[in-house]
Amino acid sequence: MICAKCGATMAQTDKNTMTGRVIREYECRSCGHADWKDDGVALWKVMHDASEQDAADNLAQSAPNAQPEAASPASSPRPSLWQRLTRFFLKHR
Ligand SMILES: [Zn+2]
Repeated sequence: MICAKCGATMAQTDKNTMTGRVIREYECRSCGHADWKDDGVALWKVMHDASEQDAADNLAQSAPNAQPEAASPASSPRPSLWQRLTRFFLKHR
């Protein structure tokens, strides 16, 4: 991150993921200017949402009026959690 005041490269001083977003805090070693940056959704939030989506999928599949799996054979294989994460990071880089 570049300092808004003097243009020097700022050093990361802290990283906060408590809110579910990655908030990185920076401080300029040249002039002391402090700033922060929202760096996207935190990894634990992604994992949390993905597992919630899995639970929802399982519920939908066990519902009495759900379409049977055999209705669309091999047309769209379910992506693994790892594939979802990889796609997420590629998308947000
Ligand atoms: Zn500065």
